[in-house]
Amino acid sequence: MTRILHRDPKQTLPTAVAGSGPYIIDAEGKRYLDASGGAAVSCLGHSYKPVVEAIKAQLDRLPYAHTGFFTNEPSEALAEHLIDRAPEGLEKVYFLSGGSEANETALKLARQYFHEKGETQRRWFISRRQSYHGNTLGALSIGGNPGRRAVYEPILMPAHHIAPCYAYRERQDTESEEAYGLRVANELEAMLQQLGPDTVIGFVAETVVGATLGAVPAVPGYFKRVREICDQYGILLILDEVMSGMGRTGTLFACDQESIAPDLLTCAKGLGAGYQPIGACLISGKIHDTIVGGSGAFQHGFTYIGHATACAGALAVQQTIERESLLDQVGKRGGELTAALIERFGKHPNIGDIRGRGLFLGLELVEDRASKQPFDPALKLHAHIKHNAMQEGLMCYPGGGTVDGRAGDHVLLAPPYIIEEEQVAEIVDKLGRAIERSLTEVR
Ligand code: PLP
Repeated sequence: MTRILHRDPKQTLPTAVAGSGPYIIDAEGKRYLDASGGAAVSCLGHSYKPVVEAIKAQLDRLPYAHTGFFTNEPSEALAEHLIDRAPEGLEKVYFLSGGSEANETALKLARQYFHEKGETQRRWFISRRQSYHGNTLGALSIGGNPGRRAVYEPILMPAHHIAPCYAYRERQDTESEEAYGLRVANELEAMLQQLGPDTVIGFVAETVVGATLGAVPAVPGYFKRVREICDQYGILLILDEVMSGMGRTGTLFACDQESIAPDLLTCAKGLGAGYQPIGACLISGKIHDTIVGGSGAFQHGFTYIGHATACAGALAVQQTIERESLLDQVGKRGGELTAALIERFGKHPNIGDIRGRGLFLGLELVEDRASKQPFDPALKLHAHIKHNAMQEGLMCYPGGGTVDGRAGDHVLLAPPYIIEEEQVAEIVDKLGRAIERSLTEVR
């Protein structure tokens, strides 16, 4: 009997014992092609030697030194690496152990920034419905997934949500993409006016929506208008790139493709690629300077911030992405996978949309393609797909159609950047069988 409280205690999980490139091998010797990088984490697969060696070398030198006493070489080098490549204006980094902590940090830095400026009345964050920003209470408060929030609602911060930019479901037939983007971005302005702009701290959004919607990029112009509104009303723009950052969409930062820079940017999963637990919050010079020039201290901290071994692992991951031109590979394999998905599912009666960027792709399942009617959420089609994919030896990341009852079930694909052409075919093959079997099961 297991002594672990698993996230789904009624499910019996296989035991993962080894990794080989993009495959995970269980205790029975069965191989699973990791087409989702777990949850868009394992961008280098599971046995990348130079990263393992870098971690071992750091463990031999110095595993950890508390940041209340010391800085350390790997965290300084990793910060330098990220800031050299970051969107304009981001000048400092705060390293954490994952994505939720990174978002908590961003929220608190944002609040402290205005506190230092004497704008202590600012207290609200605006974020989007159907969003996920982590499971800690602050991150959950800004998240817009009713299912995840329900139990904790009374102990969350009040939330102010606007619509996501979700063209497949929300754009009207008569509306151009640009007009739709403007319309939903302008919901931010309306919410600011409703709350009183000088009570708001910032707007939080995922650059490309991952787990809740399944790889949904914004339409062209949406984020430009969002940035404009943030500047006009003097609020901060916080981009959550925990899932979409670190090359997943084909550029190191997903917002590089939006031609805008946020005031705070969080990243995590692809930063350490699963070799070490690590997240980061990138901070604009203006926020940093205001805090340092004001009270002089950030009222925040965790035991494992700036962890030397985690940073050494992440630095090796990031150097690998660059040395091996893996962003080009993301573009190339992403194009191949998109084409293969379109060929296999493009006319499928139950696949309504195929979308995404780079190796961050999503399929949305529908009962009826013409009306976009989702499957009944009670059928839990996504859970069938996950189960059947695992039977096939494929890891994918399906999500439920329970969010506001407005989205269909979806499958998120986020394979490692090192996958080969034949593995692209293997993904589509196995996914095809898993989807067909699941559709039969729910009918
Ligand atoms: N933000 C986004 C967009 C995520 O997808 C996730 C995790 O899936 C998080 C935040 C939370 O990250 P973590 O699970 O590392 O705390």
